[in-house]
Parts: sequence; structure tokens; C-alpha cells
Amino acid sequence: MDNGLTTFLKNLRLETVTLEGKIELGKDVYVIRLARRQSFLPGQVVGLSLGGLPPRLYSIASGPDDPYIELLFNIKPDGLLTPRLASLKPGDALSVSAPFGAFLGDQKPAWWIAAGTGIAPYRAMMRAGLGHNKMLIHGGRTADSFYFENEMLSAFGERYVRCCSQESGPGLYSGRLTSWLKEQPQIDPTLLYYLCGSAEMVVEVRDILISKGVPIEHVMSEIYF
Ligand SMILES: Cc1cc2nc3c(=O)[nH]c(=O)nc-3n(C[C@H](O)[C@H](O)[C@H](O)COP(=O)(O)OP(=O)(O)OC[C@H]3O[C@@H](n4cnc5c(N)ncnc54)[C@H](O)[C@@H]3O)c2cc1C
Repeated sequence: MDNGLTTFLKNLRLETVTLEGKIELGKDVYVIRLARRQSFLPGQVVGLSLGGLPPRLYSIASGPDDPYIELLFNIKPDGLLTPRLASLKPGDALSVSAPFGAFLGDQKPAWWIAAGTGIAPYRAMMRAGLGHNKMLIHGGRTADSFYFENEMLSAFGERYVRCCSQESGPGLYSGRLTSWLKEQPQIDPTLLYYLCGSAEMVVEVRDILISKGVPIEHVMSEIYF
């Protein structure tokens, strides 16, 4: 992390909230539910902390009309926050910032492209009613990596592509999402392309889109680090 971001995170104002619920979606992947204190725009993030750690950022995965906030995270084995988050129980306290961020969904036609937990902001956008003219492309290693799969299948149907790099299964494209993108004969340069996930994925996907004629101004990125 650069010093500017470290300072920004340290200075985030946090409020204490109570954990309302926690669901294990897959191995080492959880959704936690918190009381919603403020309104937010789909795609925004909150800062989250425990025990005085500098906050980490998490995309809000629930919709703006849901009466709670949900966050999706995976455990980083050597991480400082996520192993502790995963061991919280309903009723435990944690510290959360107000929502902020500029990776915002809108009504324009777009492709939403995610790797791993990068699906989170698109679930918020979908639950806000922005999914009707979108393609959703999600990359994961294993067949259980497609978090919120049932909801996404019913919302997107044929417009939902699951790219699975290490397993095969019904309805899954076998391979990385970058391979799927490279195989597309045409990519519409007039659409908007949202990318969310690791820096490696975002850079690789951005380069593929640009090589296929998409103007850089049509590529919006949210990098998880
Ligand atoms: C805008 C944004 C939105 C995000 N949204 C989400 C989200 O919705 N869901 C999600 O799961 N994540 C999200 N993230 C990532 C999240 O903020 C955390 O970075 C992540 O959860 C790891 O937290 P941690 O405290 O457990 O790990 P950290 O303690 O931050 O460590 C992360 C990894 O780095 C390694 N590491 C730590 N310090 C060092 C060091 N000094 N040198 C070398 N390696 C080191 C650790 O071993 C570990 O593997 C987002 C990030 C950003 C920037």
C-alpha cells in the first residue's frame, strides 16, 4: 500500500456496529451481515476493522433497498483481518466506515467482469435493478467459486458466464475468464466494461479489451489489493 492510502485508511471515521449474521458460502469464503446505518450507491465500499487494526475496504454486496449491509470476503491465511472476521459470531462488535467510492453502476448497457470475490459490487448493482442490460462474466478456480450463483442465474440467465479454471461442470466455461474474452469474435466498443478483482486480472482484462478495440475511457476498474 502507498503511504497516501495508508493515511487515508487510518483516518477513516469508524462506528461500532454489531454483526447480525454470517454465512459460509464456500471454503474460507463468507458473507457477513451488518445493520445498515446509511444509504449508499451500488458499487460503493466500506472500511472495516477489528481491534484497532487499520481498516480494510470491502465492496457492499447487498442492494441499496435491503435493510442491512452484506459484505463478501475470503480468508487470506496470513492476513491480519480476514481470519478474525471469519471467527466472529452474531452479536460481536466491529468497526465500519460510512460508504464511499466511485465504482458505480448505472443504467447504460455494460459488461460486468469479476474474478473471485470481485462479484460483490455487481450483486449490489443487480439488486438495485441495474442488471437488465448487462452481461455478467465471473471467473473462479473451482465450481463452488460462483458466489450468489442462483441469484445471478435467475437475474441474468444466458447473460451470465461462469469461467472455471480448475474444474468443469454443467453450464461452466472451462478456462480462465481471460481465455473466454480472447475467444469472443467481437467485443462491442460502444459498451462500458466494468472490471473488479485482483490487479493482475484487471490489467490483463483491460489489455484484452483494448486490443479488441474498446476505448480506455469505456473501462472502469475496481482493484482489490
Ligand atoms: C476498493 C477495494 C475493495 C475491496 N473489496 C473487497 C471485497 O469485497 N471482498 C474481499 O474479500 N476483499 C476486498 N478487498 C480486499 C480487502 O480490502 C483486503 O485487502 C483483504 O480482505 C485482505 O485483508 P487481511 O487483513 O486479511 O489481509 P492483510 O493483512 O491485508 O494481508 C493480505 C495479504 O498480504 C500479505 N501481506 C501482508 N503484509 C505484507 C507485507 N508487509 N509484505 C508481504 N506480504 C504481506 C499477507 O500475507 C496476506 O496474504 C478490497 C480492496 C479494495 C482496495
